[in-house]
Amino acid sequence: MQLTPTNISKLDFEKAELLPAIVQHATSGVILMQGFMNSEAINVTLEKKLVTFYSRSKQRLWTKGEESNNVLNLVSAHTDCDQDSILVLAIPEGPTCHLGTQSCFGEAKPALGFLAELEQVIVSRKQDDPKTSYTASLFAKDISRSCQKVGEEGVEVALAAMKADKNELENESADLLYHLLVLLQRSETDLSSVISCLQSRQK
Ligand code: AMP
Ligand code: ZN
Ligand code: ZN
Ligand code: ZN
Repeated sequence: MQLTPTNISKLDFEKAELLPAIVQHATSGVILMQGFMNSEAINVTLEKKLVTFYSRSKQRLWTKGEESNNVLNLVSAHTDCDQDSILVLAIPEGPTCHLGTQSCFGEAKPALGFLAELEQVIVSRKQDDPKTSYTASLFAKDISRSCQKVGEEGVEVALAAMKADKNELENESADLLYHLLVLLQRSETDLSSVISCLQSRQK
């Protein structure tokens, strides 16, 4: 169930006043942090569109980023099957962990989330000096170079699969994904738009 200001009372506050709330990056799926929410914290989160917890150490409502400005912009909030825990999808500004890492569970790196992380690195190279980075040097060239690379790598993927060379297939597929991410950026679109396209095809 998606949480709205009118259905917060459906949550099971009988077991505990504070429900665990897991915050997940809305596009990469990386788990960012876990905190606790009471009904007021959920209300404030939905109203301000900024993830707000009840801090057990501060003993008050705590909007993540209130001092650091490393806020969590709310996308949506959901309950689990028996309404006693909350999953929050959010887009972070800056590192979520006070230790400076993207996630409080820093060492856990889900494989698919890495593709979104790589896309962010590619975006950050747009401004960089072409002499310092291969990705920056691609952005400095004409878009036709990226079109050519995607074509080449696609053919290399097909040839590796024909040879049944698994190692080569994995390496060429990595090349193809990388150049595809660059080409999407150069064409003013991105991975999540491609995923939306795939999702819309599912019956
Ligand atoms: P912030 O909400 O980012 O302005 O940080 C305010 C304070 O909250 C910090 O000094 C930490 O004590 C604590 N804090 C910030 N981020 C986290 C987090 N991800 N998990 C636990 N405590 C945090
Ligand atoms: Zn549950
Ligand atoms: Zn942390
Ligand atoms: Zn290749």
